[in-house]
Amino acid sequence: MRFLRLAVLTLPVLCLATPALQAQDLPAASAQADPSVSHCIAPPEAGAPGGESHGLNLDDLDRTVKPCDDFYRFAVGNWLKNNPVPPAFSSWTSFTMLADHNRDVLHAILDEAAAKAAAAKLGSNDQKIGDFYASCMDEVGVEKAGITPLKAELDRIAAISSLDTLQKEVAHLQRVGTGTLFRFGSIIDFKDSTQQIAAAFQGGLSLPDRDYYLKVDDKSVALRNLYQAHVAKMFELMGDGTDAAAAHAKTVLSIETSLAQNSIDRIARRDPEKNYHKLSTADAQALTPHFSWTAYFSEMGIPGTANLNVAQPDFFKALDAALASVPLDDWKTYLRWHLIHSAASALSSPFEQEDFNFFQKTLNGTKEMQPRWKRCVIATDQTLGEALGQAYVAKAFPPEAKAAALKMVQNLRAALRDDLSTLDWMSPATRQQAIAKLDAIDLKIGYPSKWRDYSPLQISRDSYLGNLERAAVFEHKRDLDKIGKPVDPTEWGMTPPTVNAYYNSLRNEIVFPAGILQPPYYDPNRDDAMNYGGIGAVIGHEMTHGFDDQGAKFDAKGNLRNWWTPEDLANFQARGDCIVKQFDAFEVEPGLNEKGKLVEGESIADFGGLTIAFRAFQKTLEGKPRPAAIDGFTPEQRFFLSWATVWRSNVRPEYARVLVNTNPHPLGRFRAIGPLSNMPEFQKTFGCKDGDPMVRPSEVRCRIW
Ligand SMILES: [Zn+2]
Repeated sequence: MRFLRLAVLTLPVLCLATPALQAQDLPAASAQADPSVSHCIAPPEAGAPGGESHGLNLDDLDRTVKPCDDFYRFAVGNWLKNNPVPPAFSSWTSFTMLADHNRDVLHAILDEAAAKAAAAKLGSNDQKIGDFYASCMDEVGVEKAGITPLKAELDRIAAISSLDTLQKEVAHLQRVGTGTLFRFGSIIDFKDSTQQIAAAFQGGLSLPDRDYYLKVDDKSVALRNLYQAHVAKMFELMGDGTDAAAAHAKTVLSIETSLAQNSIDRIARRDPEKNYHKLSTADAQALTPHFSWTAYFSEMGIPGTANLNVAQPDFFKALDAALASVPLDDWKTYLRWHLIHSAASALSSPFEQEDFNFFQKTLNGTKEMQPRWKRCVIATDQTLGEALGQAYVAKAFPPEAKAAALKMVQNLRAALRDDLSTLDWMSPATRQQAIAKLDAIDLKIGYPSKWRDYSPLQISRDSYLGNLERAAVFEHKRDLDKIGKPVDPTEWGMTPPTVNAYYNSLRNEIVFPAGILQPPYYDPNRDDAMNYGGIGAVIGHEMTHGFDDQGAKFDAKGNLRNWWTPEDLANFQARGDCIVKQFDAFEVEPGLNEKGKLVEGESIADFGGLTIAFRAFQKTLEGKPRPAAIDGFTPEQRFFLSWATVWRSNVRPEYARVLVNTNPHPLGRFRAIGPLSNMPEFQKTFGCKDGDPMVRPSEVRCRIW
């Protein structure tokens, strides 16, 4: 469902895991989960709720591999063999499995809500989730409608007759959920984290990243040709003749390529300083003489906006030049493409299937589409997440899970405080600031204390696309209404059933949705060792994000401000460079390695989080009789086995390429072993010898926290 991928401009928000496929026009580190490709068909696996084991599943191990040679294979080798990626998925991991299970829970809730919606109070959340889901499930109605629900929008584009009306239409399309030209929304001011400001980010592409338009190797060229053929096919489905459709596809590729040429890359997008250029409206206007910000703000319903963060000024300069030079008819073609592209998955099957064929099958290697009910569950979660989320937590989130997570956060925080207090490479001045930042980290567990109010949003059963459009307008207005106002500290960036977690640098907060507080991450019925190696390390990961290469640039209040002495900063950066080199060396397939600089923050967080979780776990053992081995493994060994279980993953090669090129999270197999091979704690636990593959030589071994 691409229709609701709104401008969520939360650049310095770092989540735990790849939120399935990221929309190309969302920030690289967006917390916004877009599970539209974490599809499924297979039943929940062992380890997920309902599976046979809440502890370690011994059948998952591959004992033909030595733990000191390749701990990932040892811990989950048989799981990898026995759990190929199901046809409707691009990857199959602990995350996608649990998300798939959560979808079953949501399915039951939505089936019931749909059956009872007519009797529910009009305007209530129950009526809205029930009717929204039912409108999506109305396959006959969607098929019968074909492209007619888009007719009014297509007519508007056809009526564009000047640069002014073009700009108006761009604003309109953004409001109804079609990303065009650039992204716009509200964001917390990087340098005054109490305030929301307007922000404009580069955007306007359809492929996952600018590099897809620019690279000239054979594979990239072949993929671009397939993309152009797909765009042509979509124009044909809209009624264009074959030649016209082909010419239009060429135009789209040409415009998007020029936007790509003027976009900054993924690594630069991780640097907050490079993405912060707060300008007065007059200064922004000087940057783009052919694009009127005043007219745009009026169209958006925010006429008094005095300033904005033009995140990538060079992109907007180039965009302005393009507005002046590209013929109006070409822009109309470009808008028509983006409209059909964003709406395709909500239209009749020829559109939906063709969209799937390129964006899922070709790009990610996914073999088949999810069943309709699952697509509709995902769409409801994306559209009415906090209405559906209330029903979800009432049904599936026990208060004990919240209490346990809270206790672990306290223990993890204490362990990190001990570490910061004793770290030998940090001076007292920096240490004091670091501890103040740690103590100030805010915590959210399970679900929001204040739920989103959907009362202005009308949902009815008669048109799925109509519901999506109204929901996009509602969400867009909700977002823009924040501009110029103080930050709402209760707001959440993920819905409650989400299997993920995040750290927000601008709020200095860590957030754990109810959806992840389940096996294999957390289980009240298993020992501390497994829970600390699972959710404990997840908590440590999010906490450590406050001190990774990006998070460390923000202070305790969430402001972009250096609080490091020059020596400490240089020392910290050198330690980060060690991680960059380690991940640069991980080979994904011949000719493609992880990009160390892109995954630096996530890898620092994995390493720091696991280290802190191990210490917090050891604290729980103090003053008690030592627990006996279970299944032949000591508590420490079970801790590390639990960690590997979190990162087990089968990924289709096509999707692995997309991730490595665009995503700040390394692949699971490298996340599992990267930190361990730096940790003396791991070496000791499994009795590995110097020189073993899982033990990095001391001269290249990394250590930060
Ligand atoms: Zn992370």
